[in-house]
Amino acid sequence: MSVLDLARPELRAMAPYSSARMEAGTGEIWLNANESPWNPLASGRVNRYPDPQPAPLLAALAHLYAVRPEQLLIGRGSDEPIDLLTRAFCRAGVDSVLVCPPTFGMYAVAANVQGARVLQVPLRAEHGFRFDADAVLAAVDADTRIVYACTPNNPTGNATAPQILLDLAERLHQRALLVVDEAYIEFSSQPSLASCAGNPDNLVVLRTLSKAHGLAGVRIGAAIAAPTVIDLLRRIMAPYPLPEPCIDAALRALSADARRITDERIASIRAERERMRTALACCAGVRAVLPSEANFLAVRFDDPVRRYAQLAGAGVIVRQLMKYPGLRDALRISIGSVDENNAVLRALGASEETA
Ligand SMILES: *Cc1c(COP(=O)(O)O)cnc(C)c1O
Repeated sequence: MSVLDLARPELRAMAPYSSARMEAGTGEIWLNANESPWNPLASGRVNRYPDPQPAPLLAALAHLYAVRPEQLLIGRGSDEPIDLLTRAFCRAGVDSVLVCPPTFGMYAVAANVQGARVLQVPLRAEHGFRFDADAVLAAVDADTRIVYACTPNNPTGNATAPQILLDLAERLHQRALLVVDEAYIEFSSQPSLASCAGNPDNLVVLRTLSKAHGLAGVRIGAAIAAPTVIDLLRRIMAPYPLPEPCIDAALRALSADARRITDERIASIRAERERMRTALACCAGVRAVLPSEANFLAVRFDDPVRRYAQLAGAGVIVRQLMKYPGLRDALRISIGSVDENNAVLRALGASEETA
């Protein structure tokens, strides 16, 4: 049995859209795609459609994640691979995905758009929001096609040991994909599962340049999976998903010099996270600061609405977590620069020496 037997049969049989760029041979005069021959900008070649999956960016990401280029699908953020995986594997009205709330909302949104059911195995506050692989296995049914595990989890911040997820992937083998979303893994002390993606063949890892690499506005993310899964996703993706200026920006951000700066910034965020965790715990009205392996802290307050307004009054925008079960009293505060973090502490009335 192949992992593709889990996918929608009608998609496997579908002839994919074939773009002009994909059909192009080699040559100097490009008259095959109704493009303008003139480039309106001083730099870049934006009069041409971009390469759907540019080889230099595939190579740079493969190097970054220590995988092979044929294991990568580059998307507009990792949101796009979530959407493509859902559409490729979930039959409308029949199949389901499984999520562990409180977690990232896009998994359920993509499932709803596709008409897939959403099974929920809530993370329990009294267990520190620990990912419960046994509870997940007990809840999976015959039509569950995708199980999501977010590590470190948004919005709780806790990470799951890779071995727990590898074991779960083995136990779901030939039944469902395990999609491990590692949007914040660079900030964690846990190692990435990227090098295990595709082994077993139902294990998919999502990575993004939006968080640690500071490129949220550029919209570049990746699915790392077995080459057969990547082939299927490439068949159903948009013809030219990645804008040329974004490809350029991502390549520049992945140069050796830029990566040194990125590493320093990740170290700074991690140090600031620990400083903020201690300092926030001492602020009036703070009930608890959840331990975090990400670039944010979930903070429980006696009066979260008032504290949210207090921060807003000081010009600090944070995220309310009221709609998340188990986190109704919490705000999610991203870790910023030292100055930004100090502004948070001042707004919450921390003593002068901690702020
Ligand atoms: C931010 C985030 C993403 C990714 O976003 P993109 O910008 O689309 O790459 C994915 N998963 C989680 C849990 C996130 O918080």
